[in-house]
Amino acid sequence: MAEILVLVDHADGEVKKVTLELLTLAARLGEPSAVLVGGGYDAAKATLAEHGAAKVYVAEDADLSSYLIAPVAELLAQLVVSASPAAVLLSSSAEGKEIAARLALKTASGVITDATDVRSGDSGPVAEQQVFGGSTIVTSKISTGTPIITVRPNSVAPEATAGDATREDVTVELSDAAKSAKITDRVVEEKGERPELSEAAIVVSGGRGVGSAEKFSVIEALADSLGAAVGASRAVTDAGWYPHQHQVGQTGKTVSPQLYIAAGISGAIQHRAGMQTSKTIVAINKDPEAPIFELVDFGVVGDLFKVVPQLTEEIHKRKG
Ligand SMILES: Cc1cc2nc3c(=O)[nH]c(=O)nc-3n(C[C@H](O)[C@H](O)[C@H](O)COP(=O)(O)OP(=O)(O)OC[C@H]3O[C@@H](n4cnc5c(N)ncnc54)[C@H](O)[C@@H]3O)c2cc1C
Repeated sequence: MAEILVLVDHADGEVKKVTLELLTLAARLGEPSAVLVGGGYDAAKATLAEHGAAKVYVAEDADLSSYLIAPVAELLAQLVVSASPAAVLLSSSAEGKEIAARLALKTASGVITDATDVRSGDSGPVAEQQVFGGSTIVTSKISTGTPIITVRPNSVAPEATAGDATREDVTVELSDAAKSAKITDRVVEEKGERPELSEAAIVVSGGRGVGSAEKFSVIEALADSLGAAVGASRAVTDAGWYPHQHQVGQTGKTVSPQLYIAAGISGAIQHRAGMQTSKTIVAINKDPEAPIFELVDFGVVGDLFKVVPQLTEEIHKRKG
């Protein structure tokens, strides 16, 4: 069976959920092989094995983690030549998409970004993308080189399948060009209890309708009742009511959770661009004509300060 390479997204061997989703898709296409850059194999092994990784290519060379992006693309390009995989799957993060683009150039291959599903076709993988506010589904396949596909987090539910996760060490001779942007410092972002926005299965976002930074606690309370991440529209982050890293949209983060709740958000096209592939969309807005209602599965016309606290209370009640 042909190998499918999956670039592992991890922090010191703590594997991110998106990697398990990629392994699940890879198992549909062939035999998943994980590519782990940096240390952490021992910590990652069990999780990768539980999700079907037959092999783990471990690249521990310090140079791979000391420079931005380019070395990882060179490593993958080398593996594409040596392992002849049937496809390479990466996460649709900014980093994943840049690596994919560089890899495509290096291997003269086609690339598909922001896929929301990947399945096996007659002549290679077939990817699905959602465009125009999720109203159109594009199905495409790559006809040149090795298919390189980036997949949005939360596109599939991770499935457990046994694999051996056998370690295979790889080294790469990096070009000078790959070492042109050196990482001089790393700062670990302070994280609260909430899940990371792009990875969360549930996102609760607030817009200008929330009215102020202080009142954002109403959005946070709902998010916490659901174990969700907190998002915000650009109107909110520009006003300084919530940090920019929580902005959802064209110039913010792209999310694709199972459930997206938008409170006090009008639904501008630039906001939709970042959340339109969410599986279920719920909006709370006092204006029945708000464009967000064109997109929703469930809409509540009402004042968010009446609706959201009641919803939070009800969720707490049901959770006991
Ligand atoms: C190049 C460019 C890039 C952009 N990128 C992004 C981006 O990444 N993300 C993004 O979000 N925007 C982005 N924008 C901005 C975007 O066009 C909108 O201006 C923005 O999304 C509006 O945010 P909002 O919906 O919170 O505010 P508004 O459009 O002002 O909507 C507020 C909504 O709250 C409702 N409301 C008010 N009070 C209440 C209440 N008490 N209860 C219930 N509902 C209430 C109102 O009816 C209204 O619908 C971008 C714009 C440009 C030009």
